[in-house]
Amino acid sequence: MKALVKFAPGEGNLDILDVAEPECGPHQVKVEIAFCGVCGTDLHVMHDTFRNYPPVILGHEFAGTVVETGREVAGVAIGARVTVLGATAVTCGVCRYCREGRFIFCPERRGMGHGVNGAFAKYVVVRPDQLYCIPDHFTLEEAAISEPFAAAVQAVTEVTQVRIGETALVSGPGPIGLLCLKLLVAEGIRTIVAGAANDEVRLAAARQFGADLTINTGELDLGETIREATGGQGVDVALECAGHPSSVRGCLDSLRPMGRYTQVAICGREIQFPIDRIFYKQLTLSGSICYTARTWERMMQIYQGGRVRLHDLISVALPITEWRTAFELCADRKAIKVLMHP
Ligand SMILES: [Zn+2]
Ligand SMILES: [Zn+2]
Repeated sequence: MKALVKFAPGEGNLDILDVAEPECGPHQVKVEIAFCGVCGTDLHVMHDTFRNYPPVILGHEFAGTVVETGREVAGVAIGARVTVLGATAVTCGVCRYCREGRFIFCPERRGMGHGVNGAFAKYVVVRPDQLYCIPDHFTLEEAAISEPFAAAVQAVTEVTQVRIGETALVSGPGPIGLLCLKLLVAEGIRTIVAGAANDEVRLAAARQFGADLTINTGELDLGETIREATGGQGVDVALECAGHPSSVRGCLDSLRPMGRYTQVAICGREIQFPIDRIFYKQLTLSGSICYTARTWERMMQIYQGGRVRLHDLISVALPITEWRTAFELCADRKAIKVLMHP
């Protein structure tokens, strides 16, 4: 089968190669991939700025159909439409974090698409416990966005615990920021979305998805505009989804006293910010990285509820042979979510 493979360490070293189809072991399930999302992490693997283990097939956000089950596997139907929790592909199972279900902190962990073979290919084999069946009304395209959506579910509902009646700021209208927005809107929370001067396409999408206000920080000061929009108060919660120093400072400036700040994006560098703001406003700061299996259960309940649909986040779906175009679209912030298919 054709697959997008990081074939050697270092910058680049990525291409479509012909590789053997994976064999379905007795305890495994073989999934035919329908769609797999392109994500910033894939670009980092290409540039070798995210840990990877070549040769490895990229792709970690995907959905598809079960086509084979191992002889020891029970309870998985051929033809089931599934999305896959790829991050647990390899864990130790015995460290304190594995035992708490917080596998993301397991020192032995390797996820699909960089640690073990991922889904920019025709087939993958996984364990049955990694599978989540998607509801009938949900398309395989939108189910392919489940992995980043799970990160938004953890950030909004589990870490920040945004409550109805609060006003939220989402700073950074990339895919994760817009997924946070979708959840907040579905929960009836007044949400303001901020972006940089080159985020106009994504800010327009935010308005379409139900943001109460969007702020272009290339034109307006974030803190001042937020205070004007909230009767001088500031927002109750801020989700930093841009990973940019000015966004971090803007979030701290925009929060009301006793407000809650959650770091959802990676900054990738050391930054300066006024730490006294945390003291004087008595802010609570949290980080939110990935999700737990419990988050994925919650996400399936959200899908089932029918109030959140994700198809309007998909800009285009390209064959994996056009991966260069797909990666460029992902890098230049004009598209929202780019999918690929075998
Ligand atoms: Zn990703
Ligand atoms: Zn572990």
